[in-house]
Amino acid sequence: MLSNDHDHRHVGQRLDLFHLQEDAPGMVFWHPHGFTRYRVLEEAVRRQMAREGYREVRTPQVLRQPIWEASGHWQHFRAGMFVLAGDEEERAAALKPVSCPGHLQIVARRAPSYRELPIRLGELGLVHRDEPSGVLMGLFRLRQFTQDDGHILCEEGQVDAEVERFCRSLSHFYEAMGFDAVSAAFSTRPDERAGSDEAWDRAESVLLAAARRAGLDPIIQPGQGAFYGPKLEFVLKDRLGREWQCGTIQLDFVLPERFGVQYIDATGARRTPVLLHRALLGSLERFLGVLLEHHAGALPAWLAPEQVVVAPVAEAQHLFATRVLERLLAAGIRARVDARAETLARKVQGAHEGSVAFVAVVGRREVERGTVTLRSRGGQRELALEEAVLEIQRDCHPPI
Ligand SMILES: [Zn+2]
Repeated sequence: MLSNDHDHRHVGQRLDLFHLQEDAPGMVFWHPHGFTRYRVLEEAVRRQMAREGYREVRTPQVLRQPIWEASGHWQHFRAGMFVLAGDEEERAAALKPVSCPGHLQIVARRAPSYRELPIRLGELGLVHRDEPSGVLMGLFRLRQFTQDDGHILCEEGQVDAEVERFCRSLSHFYEAMGFDAVSAAFSTRPDERAGSDEAWDRAESVLLAAARRAGLDPIIQPGQGAFYGPKLEFVLKDRLGREWQCGTIQLDFVLPERFGVQYIDATGARRTPVLLHRALLGSLERFLGVLLEHHAGALPAWLAPEQVVVAPVAEAQHLFATRVLERLLAAGIRARVDARAETLARKVQGAHEGSVAFVAVVGRREVERGTVTLRSRGGQRELALEEAVLEIQRDCHPPI
């Protein structure tokens, strides 16, 4: 049984991070402290996308029925979509459950040269899925969430290199987030699917071979693939030994053809590129839930909304505390002064309860010497202000 210390819903309440309420089932009200954590994670994902060579885009939240018919969602996923009824003029539309059709519209506007491939587009896409109310569960299962969605359009001969590149970046990313045990699974064609058997034969053999060349030995999950293609999925294990499927890369020979996406090959002929769908986290909200449970709320310092609380011992040190704060803020550290007329013990306890990584204590001695006494989970030390700034920066620096 999961203790309340770990359960992200209790952590969320204890640290005032977010709440859910009946008026918006499966959709999150982010509070300031929770949203700071969310934004820090989002920025880490954004930097990672840029490093992997993705260009960020944004596509519409609502798309009309013909787009979802072309993608196959209307036929295979309609129960999972929020459909908006049309009138005589307007055809029905749906809130997007994925960003792929939007990205394909961007590439379909022109036929790029083979020299521009692979084209990598990324979107932190807000998506809606009409999950049954019985399966909704905190941040883990929502109806509205943000997907770190990326699409690669390439030639078939480039699939290996792209899959390998993704696998490498994924292990690095998970490690930086504090997870070291990652395993892989390969999901093959489901009963309900789009595309010909020949396309599926080719997609499954190409993706599995690429995974093996990337050094993976995935377990096979028959029939678990997406309706448009096979999936390679990454499962990470948390400190409680539970497994979470987060990252995924999927090969798709179906959608580019359906949306008329083409490129010009070396001979000047028009050809249809291969599509790879990939996500590192899947859902940012869910991943934050996993992180909160993995760390029992005490996220690494770089993800904390408040990294340092400066605690003057008495009124006489307030001016120096403000100087320390300014220096910390200038160094890009998220900090504040606890100026309450409380005992030092109370201030330290308050910072601890709020999962603040460091308390910088300034008393009479520190003011005289131009130092701070830095308290953290690892103990306490008196350091010259500049040394303290460097130490905090080292600890708070995003690893990705
Ligand atoms: Zn996609």
